[in-house]
Amino acid sequence: MEYDIRRNIHDVSDSLRPGVELVAVSKYHPDEHIKAAYMEGQRVFGESHERELTEKYRTLPKDIRWHFIGHLQTNKVKYIVPYISMIDSVDSFKLLKEIDRQAAKYERIIDVLLEIRVAQEETKYGFLPDECRRMLDAGQWRELDHVRICGLMTMASNVDDENQIRSEFEQAAALFDEIKQQYFADNEAFRERSWGMSDDYHIAMDCRSTMVRVGSKIFGPRI
Ligand SMILES: *Cc1c(COP(=O)(O)O)cnc(C)c1O
Repeated sequence: MEYDIRRNIHDVSDSLRPGVELVAVSKYHPDEHIKAAYMEGQRVFGESHERELTEKYRTLPKDIRWHFIGHLQTNKVKYIVPYISMIDSVDSFKLLKEIDRQAAKYERIIDVLLEIRVAQEETKYGFLPDECRRMLDAGQWRELDHVRICGLMTMASNVDDENQIRSEFEQAAALFDEIKQQYFADNEAFRERSWGMSDDYHIAMDCRSTMVRVGSKIFGPRI
């Protein structure tokens, strides 16, 4: 397994377009699997459960940059804020406010992405495009000095139809352009488009992804 991971991390890295960052999604995988990828130079890992992530943070090398990519409950924010590198899945203003409040305690500024919901299939989390516009129009986010909104994140529907996936990523890219122009025109930090997972990251890169979150293609099936 460790041997496969070492090969896979290179295969996936080599298949990325220039400028696209790889978040290696290690949820449900043991420390040994993460170490195998780390040994090959990978430093950015994604996890989606607070407890599991905090345990891994404690035991694994401290130069790993951890991304939180799952649904985050507000009462769990305080546990990850001391060390998290990016929270990719901010899906409500309430969560954004709580990240800001906890980050202030540690005198940190936390990088975040707004998770948007463009998939046709019923997914539970993420701002609908209009909810996202309304939240940004309301303007209160501008007062949050301890979060830095760095872009958008989305997931496509879990389907085989490539055209559907492509059309969802294209919607996300168009929404990115609109939001960039409307609210972040002078803000260099707002530049990430996080879309693409194991089965669809090539399509995502066609649709201007800057960050892909790849799990099973590197680590194999989740344990
Ligand atoms: C699990 C997960 C991934 C990785 O999925 P794979 O299909 O294993 O690449 C990416 N993004 C999010 C938000 C996830 O929860």
